[in-house]
Amino acid sequence: MDFSYTDKETEFRLELRRWLAANAPRGPLPATLDEEAEYLSAWQRKLFDAGWAAVHWPREYGGRGASLTEQAIFQQEMARARAPQMMNRVGINLVGPTLIAHGTDEQRRRYLPKILSCEEIWCQLYSEPGAGSDLAALRTRAEADGDVFRVSGQKVWTSYAQFAKFGILLARTDADAAKHKGISCFIVDMRTPGITIRPLRQITGSAEFSETFFDAAEVPRTNLIGKENAGWGVASTTLAHERGTSFPFKEQVLHKIYVDELGDLLRDGGGAADPTLRQEYAARYIDVEVMRLHNCRMMSRLAKGELPGPESSIVKLFWADMTQRLGDLSLEALGPAAQLVAGDDAALDDGRWQQRMLWSRCASIAGGTSEIQRNIIAQRLLGLPR
Ligand SMILES: Cc1cc2nc3c(=O)[nH]c(=O)nc-3n(C[C@H](O)[C@H](O)[C@H](O)COP(=O)(O)OP(=O)(O)OC[C@H]3O[C@@H](n4cnc5c(N)ncnc54)[C@H](O)[C@@H]3O)c2cc1C
Repeated sequence: MDFSYTDKETEFRLELRRWLAANAPRGPLPATLDEEAEYLSAWQRKLFDAGWAAVHWPREYGGRGASLTEQAIFQQEMARARAPQMMNRVGINLVGPTLIAHGTDEQRRRYLPKILSCEEIWCQLYSEPGAGSDLAALRTRAEADGDVFRVSGQKVWTSYAQFAKFGILLARTDADAAKHKGISCFIVDMRTPGITIRPLRQITGSAEFSETFFDAAEVPRTNLIGKENAGWGVASTTLAHERGTSFPFKEQVLHKIYVDELGDLLRDGGGAADPTLRQEYAARYIDVEVMRLHNCRMMSRLAKGELPGPESSIVKLFWADMTQRLGDLSLEALGPAAQLVAGDDAALDDGRWQQRMLWSRCASIAGGTSEIQRNIIAQRLLGLPR
C-alpha cells in the first residue's frame, strides 16, 4: 500500500477544504422533503457556481477532469465538512456520465448544463417490481410507432421522481430477442401524459421513492440514448457509475464521525459503564478502522491506474453490515429513550439516532443487495462454483 499523495492531490484537497470551510451550510436538514429538496438544490447551485458540482466530469462539459484519487478526496472532504449531498445526484453521478459516453452531441448540449446547475432534476427509471437484482428481466415495453415510442409498464423505487423533470428509462423494445438484447434506453420528460407518480412512504417517515406507472406515454425517437435495442450497454455504463469507486471514501469519514459521536453518547449517557456495550463499541470502532484500511488499499490501486474490480463488492458488503451494526448499537446506547423519536420534544438529538438506524436498513439493498455481493465474491474472487 502507498499512503502518500502527490503535491497536486494535496493542493486539490486544500483548495476544496478552504472552500467548504467558507461555504458549506451548517446545521440539520429542513424537516419536510419539499424543503429539503429546495435546500439541497440551493447547495448544488453554490457548488456549481464555484466549479465543484461534478469534479469527475471532463472539463469540456463543465467538470474538473478529476482523477479517481481526486474524486475520492472530494468525497472525503465533503464528508469531513459534513456538507449535505447535492439534490441532482442521479443527474450528476449517473445520467451525466451515461450521456457523455453514449449520447448524441445534441443531447449533451441540451441536457448536461442544466444537470450541473440543478435547473433540471433527473430520476432513474430502471428497477421494476419483478426486475431489480436481475435487471434484464424488465418488462416495461416501448413500442415503436413512427417517430415515437409508446411506453407502458411500471417502475419502482424511483428516487426523487416527484421532483424530477427528466428520467433515464430502460424499456423492452424487442420482446422476441434474448433478455439483454431487446432493451433500449430513453430520456423521458416526466410531465408526459400517461405517466403517474405515486410516492411510497418508508419506515423513516419520508417518501423519497415512488412507483412510476406508464400508460402509453409517448417518447420521441430522438430521445433514444444509443441505438435501439442496445440499451443494455448503455445501462452498464450507468450501473458502473452507481457502484462507483468514490462512495466508500465518503462513507468511511461519515462513519468515523458517527462512531465518535456514539462514544460521547455512551460516556455522557452512562452506557460506558456497561461492559457489554463497551465491548460492542470497541468492535464497531474497529469496523470503521477496517473500512479505512480497505479504502487505503483501493486508493493505492487507483493511484497506480488500476480499477478495483470485484473487490469493490467486499467494501460494499462490509459497509452495509457496518452501518447496520452501528445503528443497532446506537439504539442500545439510548436505552428506553430510543422510543422517543423525531417529532417528540423529549427525543434526544431530535431523534437523529433512530433516523440513522432506520435508514441503515436500505444499505443492504441499494446499489446491489448483500446477497448479490456475496455471490460476486464467491464466484469471481474465491472461484467457487455457481
Ligand atoms: C435507497 C434505494 C434507492 C434506490 N433508488 C433507485 C432508483 O432511483 N431507481 C431505480 O431504478 N432503482 C432504485 N433502487 C432499486 C435498487 O436498485 C434495487 O432495490 C436493487 O437492485 C434490488 O432489487 P429488488 O429490490 O428488486 O430486490 P430483488 O432483486 O427482488 O431481491 C429480493 C431478495 O432476493 C435476493 N436475491 C435476488 N437474486 C438473488 C440471487 N441471484 N442470489 C441470492 N439472492 C438473491 C436479494 O438479495 C434480496 O434479498 C433503489 C433502492 C434503494 C434501497
